[in-house]
Amino acid sequence: DAKRSGRHTWRRYSADMHATAMARLSVITRLVAANLDQELALAWQTQHDGVTGKPIGVEALLRWPMAPGDLAWPDKLIPLLEETGAIVPIGQWVLREACRQQRRIVDLLGPGCRVAVNISAQQLAHSDLVAEVRHALLETGASASALELELTESAFMNEPERAIRTLHELRAMGVSIALDDFGTGYSNLTYLSRLPLDKIKVDRHFTAALLEETVDASICRSIIFLARSLNLDVVAEGVETQSQREWLEREGCIAMQGFLFSRPVPLDELAGEPLLVR
Ligand code: C2E
Ligand code: MG
Ligand code: MG
Ligand code: MG
Repeated sequence: DAKRSGRHTWRRYSADMHATAMARLSVITRLVAANLDQELALAWQTQHDGVTGKPIGVEALLRWPMAPGDLAWPDKLIPLLEETGAIVPIGQWVLREACRQQRRIVDLLGPGCRVAVNISAQQLAHSDLVAEVRHALLETGASASALELELTESAFMNEPERAIRTLHELRAMGVSIALDDFGTGYSNLTYLSRLPLDKIKVDRHFTAALLEETVDASICRSIIFLARSLNLDVVAEGVETQSQREWLEREGCIAMQGFLFSRPVPLDELAGEPLLVR
């Protein structure tokens, strides 16, 4: 009897899960069919020179303001977009929109600032990223040298050779490449030295713990050292406190991004200089 009711419970649970999955799927199907310009928005988070406070770039982060349920934020939305494959057309929208706003942002933050766009592993695998970037640049008049693409290590797991070729082509066009969330994936140091990269971003979980956990401090230090050895820029993500900032500065990681400088904000709230007291 217990077995029977157990099975019954399982069945109901699985039916509920199925219903939830179907509901989420239809939400995403409707999103992709909708006018993305009306549905989606980008939030912008600046990156700074931690010594002078000056902005050196800005990252575009996807938002779905009118999303049903909890899908307004990327931690729920992005995995679902990846599961359903919708990340491909939506990532394309993000790229275009970021290129469309590039001129305005560079005017605001200063010359030399780059606009960074997150590219999912699926976009790299299932679309012709080179053609899409070229098209977005042509269509919007954006400049390749002020565009940076952020990829995670997972993008290189399936077909590393193909991924490496794609990155070489993008860099030949003048686009910069950053390796995002570094340290959280299956870092393959052999590949790392072969990847055509410009920048490594230290994952914010290491930054968050660096003053409390010696292991995280050691990891941060090693990543900074590794970046320097490979002649790459390094940016610390998730800098929230003045003490983290000072630690990073002492260790030679000058570029920083995090709530200490600015939260992700709508375009019209983007400011050149952060309100920072040293
Ligand atoms: P990410 O690319 O590593 O972006 C940084 C995330 O850290 C952002 O979360 C940002 O709001 C958050 N963050 C920045 N500074 C701090 C800080 O000081 N403290 C804390 N606690 N958090 C901070 P968000 O906007 O929720 O995005 C989460 C992730 O979703 C991104 O991580 C990225 O992997 C993904 N994502 C966002 N937009 C896109 C997109 O257009 N395409 C793709 N493929 N992924 C995206
Ligand atoms: Mg990123
Ligand atoms: Mg990151
Ligand atoms: Mg992240």
